Amino acid sequence: MLFDTQTDLVIGQKVNQFFDPQSKDTYQEYIQKTVSYLTEFLHNENFYSGESPNDLRSMTDLITADPHIKLSIDDTLKEIKALYLDHTIAFHHPTYVAHLNCPVLLPSIIGDLIASSVNTAIETWDQSTSGTLIEQEMIRWICSEMGLPAISDGIFTSGGTQSNFMALLIARDHYAYKHFGINLKENGWSDVVSKFRFFCSEKAHFSIKKNAALLGMGYNAVIPIVTDQEIKMQPDALVQAIEKEKKLGNIPIAVIATAGTTDFGSFDPLETIAKIADEYDIWFHVDGAYGGSYILTETHQDKLKGIEQADSVTIDFHKTMFQSVCSSAFLVRDTQYFKYVSYYADYLNPLEYRDEECPNLIEKSIQTTRRFDALKLWFTLKMTGAKAIGSFLEKVHYLALDLYHSIKDDPCFEIVHKPELSTLVFRYKMANIEDDTIQNTVNLYIKNTLFKSGQASVASTKLNGNIYLKFTLLNPKSTLDDLLNIIGMIKETGSDYKNNN
Ligand SMILES: *Cc1c(COP(=O)(O)O)cnc(C)c1O
Repeated sequence: MLFDTQTDLVIGQKVNQFFDPQSKDTYQEYIQKTVSYLTEFLHNENFYSGESPNDLRSMTDLITADPHIKLSIDDTLKEIKALYLDHTIAFHHPTYVAHLNCPVLLPSIIGDLIASSVNTAIETWDQSTSGTLIEQEMIRWICSEMGLPAISDGIFTSGGTQSNFMALLIARDHYAYKHFGINLKENGWSDVVSKFRFFCSEKAHFSIKKNAALLGMGYNAVIPIVTDQEIKMQPDALVQAIEKEKKLGNIPIAVIATAGTTDFGSFDPLETIAKIADEYDIWFHVDGAYGGSYILTETHQDKLKGIEQADSVTIDFHKTMFQSVCSSAFLVRDTQYFKYVSYYADYLNPLEYRDEECPNLIEKSIQTTRRFDALKLWFTLKMTGAKAIGSFLEKVHYLALDLYHSIKDDPCFEIVHKPELSTLVFRYKMANIEDDTIQNTVNLYIKNTLFKSGQASVASTKLNGNIYLKFTLLNPKSTLDDLLNIIGMIKETGSDYKNNN
């Protein structure tokens, strides 16, 4: 007997749940029903229902999956509505201005649906065929937008954090090989590596330090460089820091410039930093997770001058190209640098059968099984177009500027910077109060109160030890009135606090 009857029975009942020819009617039914729930989600009144964490946690019946109960698609959708769609965060909502979550374009969703249904694994040609060509074309397109040379190349990653990881890893292994003849990939740790130093602005993304730690080099391998009034890395300070580390016997190996800092959207002076990196013969990485997409705009091309000289670049399509998560890329100036991550496995991509006609993208990735995330970008470029994406980005930038001009003379607010991208960092100021502790308390109170009530989601960050509020604008359909509405809520909540304390 091949199967016991119990197993046969289960298979008989559930066989229509696979994506295969027998189930095509079920597939359509499921998708159609799901779509109607998703369109209903778009009608949620607020960005968040305001349901308390405890009330959400108490929905244990819905959260747990009982192995003995089999639900229909209708019942399961009802459950997920009650548990999640009614309470999760709606990034498209005009009162959501917290983090770098963009509203997603419909072509991106279609690309994702196809990628998920077909379930292409993009790592080898024999699992993807023309999928590989599509990913390579998306990479070629963005490299050429950036002005990188013809030998440049790239790979889709899970996000900016992973792209930055690859940058640090390749910068390190390349330096070790080029200057010391050390092959870290083959032989592992070498003592000289503990002297290697990365340089980035003090406002660089935390993933630089985190990745240095993951690479076994520690946070202390990252030297933070002070920023100027506009929150950009100071080139003089960079040179001084490099010189200082050299005097200490350490070895500068790379500088990471940020094109669009997470909090302030500020651009480090890329051209000057490129020159310094060149003079010291060290790696030049540009973290453009947030601002890299602005290469598609007319407003910000100047700020990205110098990126064409980068040895590597991080860009997040899921932040500023209106793609669903994940869609992100790591680019390198010369495709040969991928040798520091490539591995040839007998069962997947044996070296002796390497064939330029049928490339295996796994040679460039630190992942093995990998989603076909390039497809949604392809759909977007085909259906929305790069020009329109550029206009959306310009729109949210001008929105940030309009907001800045609208509140900069308001005594209720202290504004930290003029927006360079699409964020605005500021804080509510209670009148006649000098004590920063109280100002910090009221700003946190405002943020938490607005979130818990489902009225608005505003982010907070720290500057000089104090709490500030942050608007991150990524919705090109938002209006200044939408934003002033949130500003009104902030004032009201701030004065409520004052009256009650
Ligand atoms: C968001 C961000 C990252 C991290 O990107 P993820 O996609 O969230 O991993 C890295 N650098 C900068 C400047 C960012 O803003």
